[in-house]
Amino acid sequence: MQIARDHARENRRLMPLELAISVIYFVVWVAWVHIPLINWLERTFASTDLQVLCYVGLFGLGMTVINLPMDAYHHSRSVHYGLSVQTWRGWAIDLCKGLLIGVVLGLVVILVLYRLLAAYPDTWWLWMAGFYLLLTVLLAQLAPVLIMPLFLKFTPYEDEELTPRLQTLAEQAGTQVRGVFRTDLSSKTTAANAWLSGLGRTRRIVLGDTLLDHYSADEILSIFAHEMGHHVHRHLWRGILVSTLVSLVGFWLAGRVVSWAVEAYGYAGPADLRAFPWLILVLALFGILTSPLLNAFSRSQERAADRYALDHGPGAEPFVDAMTRLANQNLADPEPPRWQVLYSYSHPPILERIATAQHAGE
Ligand SMILES: [Zn+2]
Repeated sequence: MQIARDHARENRRLMPLELAISVIYFVVWVAWVHIPLINWLERTFASTDLQVLCYVGLFGLGMTVINLPMDAYHHSRSVHYGLSVQTWRGWAIDLCKGLLIGVVLGLVVILVLYRLLAAYPDTWWLWMAGFYLLLTVLLAQLAPVLIMPLFLKFTPYEDEELTPRLQTLAEQAGTQVRGVFRTDLSSKTTAANAWLSGLGRTRRIVLGDTLLDHYSADEILSIFAHEMGHHVHRHLWRGILVSTLVSLVGFWLAGRVVSWAVEAYGYAGPADLRAFPWLILVLALFGILTSPLLNAFSRSQERAADRYALDHGPGAEPFVDAMTRLANQNLADPEPPRWQVLYSYSHPPILERIATAQHAGE
């Protein structure tokens, strides 16, 4: 418990520093890089697509480089606390893979965004929200088969004792889940985890080997039942719906501010790269402000999934046992401050989940 507290306190202390790094980067970019870079790009490339890709690409690259020391520090602390078992090499390889996916996806998004900004200066935000929805659904579908396997190995999970019980639970939930997979989480971390991912034909339940190898059958079933709760309540779809609505508001707001900036500063239009800092500033602030809202929504879903697990799983006792072990193993902060829970917790604090389960079991 003390280790978990230390780890959480350390991470909290770093938060203002992390925010400051991003703010300083943004200010330096706007003050010294922004306009000279655009002037140079306009002289060098005739294609506006190329200008946009280079500009935003360099902005993203700078951001990544400036955050690298902090990422490395977090990794070294995770190793220190025994959470991560990755070597520096493994960490660097995962980082590069993540960057590569980020670059490919990011550049596609930016190209679409700037084409929409140029073609529909007044209604681009609506089209962009539509594109965002399309991309989210596509990624949710493809991630378990295309992206996740780049980081982890997945093998269909079979166990004489456990599989039939997992299947019964799945049938109870009237599920269309297409399989149960075991993954080698232990190659990265000591933390145990299980999740539901994919849409339609790629829908699956994934159980970490860190969970399968160290938890009792009833404990695993409790966690599986929680995942089935997400499935029964269609949480993935609801999540996509809510995040699309939020992004619609965000893009609309960005549209208003950018239109104002175009008027006020005489930019050529919303697709003028000179307006980029306004766009990114509004979207970033909007993201910071809506994060508590989205996390509250997520916590309510987690509570619903917990209730489902308590009603349909093997009971309150194994659920409480599993939660207690997860909390210890994953170094969950036993008493996070209220503001942190409200702002950034996607799950209710573990002690709260345990208390609810104990209450239900009485
Ligand atoms: Zn959950």
